[in-house]
Amino acid sequence: MQTPVPGYLAELLESCDGDSSGEPAAYIPELARADVSLFGVAVAAPDGVVYAAGDADVPFTIQSISKPFAYALALQDRGCDFILSKVGTEPSGDAFNMISLESGTGRPRNPMINIGAITTHALTGDPSMDPQQRFERVRDGLSAFAGRRLEVDEAVFDSEMSTADRNRSLAFMVRSYGIIDSDPIEAVHGYTRQCSLLVTAKDLAVMGATLANAGVNPLTGERVVDQAVVRQVLSVMLTCGMYDAAGDWVTTVGIPAKSGVAGGILGALPGQVGIGAFSPPLDEFGNSVRGVQVCQRLSGDMGLHLMGAA
Ligand code: GLN
Repeated sequence: MQTPVPGYLAELLESCDGDSSGEPAAYIPELARADVSLFGVAVAAPDGVVYAAGDADVPFTIQSISKPFAYALALQDRGCDFILSKVGTEPSGDAFNMISLESGTGRPRNPMINIGAITTHALTGDPSMDPQQRFERVRDGLSAFAGRRLEVDEAVFDSEMSTADRNRSLAFMVRSYGIIDSDPIEAVHGYTRQCSLLVTAKDLAVMGATLANAGVNPLTGERVVDQAVVRQVLSVMLTCGMYDAAGDWVTTVGIPAKSGVAGGILGALPGQVGIGAFSPPLDEFGNSVRGVQVCQRLSGDMGLHLMGAA
């Protein structure tokens, strides 16, 4: 490659490598065993060129980074008005696994927290689909964003299902409010499989670039979702994607983003770049410690903050 970008990314990883704080997610036993030394970053331009450094080809489960993509598919499949009647767009200010429902309507506050994402999963595809067909719709959709077929990590899936009582209770809550009318247990099963899809930092960069490219995958040329869907998704990522650290994130990084408890972070800056970062140790909000640092530096160095230079 005749560009300084790979060298810059390697230097970026080195500069953020010193912080060994944080712990891998413990509530999913299989994730607690993650190799804490893994660290990778990738960026993808809207023309499809991907640059990477470190462990950018190491697979890990997508976890909550699947949420904006499932939300995009639900919006595409069922229309914005219908989905908005079921799931709100307000930051909850609560941790990702809380019972954050709007008083009155019972709508989950947003699709980036678990209660909203379990609901969103249940609303993807055609209403006549069975749970297996619905999961395949989600897998096909996420694969189209990534430009390759994504597979489920069965060990992580089994592990999370063995400790998923809280998510089951969230699903029963939304059903009790009439937000979903399908089986809550099936919704958690499908949602957990969605979270167990394997990606790499490079995949995340491409998925982010597809959002940055108004819904067209820059590698395959496929239009995955409409531009209006992308605007809705990126807006909710900006305000809710980093959970109860969303305010800090917007001020210091200023890019629509989503984190996952396996240690991934995805960023997408419209018209400019998709970013994927991976490092398993998490901070108290469930966001990758070194992933956040990488994104802060990238944003500053490359002038990516939506609100302009500091
Ligand atoms: N599958 C995880 C859960 O439901 C996803 C959480 C996350 O990545 N923050 O708890």
